[in-house]
Amino acid sequence: MRAESGPDGEWSVRTVRGSEKQYLCPGCNQQIPAGTGHVVVWRNDSWFSDEHALGERRHWHSGCWRARGRRR
Ligand SMILES: [Zn+2]
Repeated sequence: MRAESGPDGEWSVRTVRGSEKQYLCPGCNQQIPAGTGHVVVWRNDSWFSDEHALGERRHWHSGCWRARGRRR
């Protein structure tokens, strides 16, 4: 896991090899198929409890996460 800061706040980013579920990537609104490596991100802001932050995790394609700052 690593911390990243961007124009939209502080984020914790974890790379995963793939999970048993599929997720919807908020970057491109496409499915991340089960078993596909991707990143899991959540807000690192101190005013959220850890439990809340973990509940707000989002799954992104690795490329979409890297590209998100360039679209702003
Ligand atoms: Zn995506």
